[in-house]
Amino acid sequence: MKNETKTALITGSSSGIGLGIAKVFAKAGYQICFNGLEKNGEEIAEEVGKEYGVKTMFSPANLLKPEAIQEMVKNAQETLGPIDVLINNAGVQYVAPIDEFPEDKWNLIIGVNMSAVFHTSKAVWPQMKAQGFGRIINITSAHGLRASEFKSAYVTSKHGVTGLTKVLGLEGAPFGITCNAICPGYVRTPLVEGQISDQAKAHNMSEDEVVEKIMLKKQAIKDFVKVESIAALALFLASEAAATITGTSLPIDGGWSAQ
Ligand code: NAD
Repeated sequence: MKNETKTALITGSSSGIGLGIAKVFAKAGYQICFNGLEKNGEEIAEEVGKEYGVKTMFSPANLLKPEAIQEMVKNAQETLGPIDVLINNAGVQYVAPIDEFPEDKWNLIIGVNMSAVFHTSKAVWPQMKAQGFGRIINITSAHGLRASEFKSAYVTSKHGVTGLTKVLGLEGAPFGITCNAICPGYVRTPLVEGQISDQAKAHNMSEDEVVEKIMLKKQAIKDFVKVESIAALALFLASEAAATITGTSLPIDGGWSAQ
């Protein structure tokens, strides 16, 4: 790892898991390029920067647009310097049976959850390769390893990133670049709050029943995963200690994928 200040670009970091990861990285001394669609993204970046005494910036890049991704990476490099860690965290969800699944939702989910990971990785790759160091960490899901009904686009997108993670692990090996995925079970964030109500409609259940009978049913440990656990694993994967871990998908899912 370089001795000078390190920089992380984290997509979807103005909410939920991404914001939690950004705080832990800022606390560890990383400069952060925040990204997301939240209107208060600029303020969030400023607050975190002030709290932990690190330089931060915010990019409102819409990850559905490859040219906006290129612009975000270029701005981050110009403002903060070379990017050491790219965390592909942004994600969207929609729950419906296949015959009712709207095509625009399919395209949105594949675009944000999967294609954007290709575009961000491609954009940072030349600079990481040139500096002989890079860490790409993809926040996929237990749904990158297992399926559930009514989540055709989400499960497809996350399985796609599981595959891309393996490819980038192999391609990055000669250049000091590692690529790994973290696969969380359920974490209580805005994305999951939306799913609880969608699942309730799809399964004709109450929201409490969805949590008990569907979400946590698949986990041996009947607790939501904590954002802090995901952030701690991401920080480890970014460290020198994780230099030979690559191309892999690491579950934090209360034992879901053990079944
Ligand atoms: P969240 O809804 O709280 O945050 C998602 C972030 O992605 C937001 O900042 C949002 O603005 C951003 N985003 C969405 N579309 C975007 C676009 N087009 N361009 C730029 N940014 C965009 O969700 P979360 O629960 O924190 O999820 C973060 C990641 O973790 C996702 O990839 C999700 O699939 C994954 N995940 C979540 C859970 C969970 O239970 N919450 C479980 C497993 C995996």
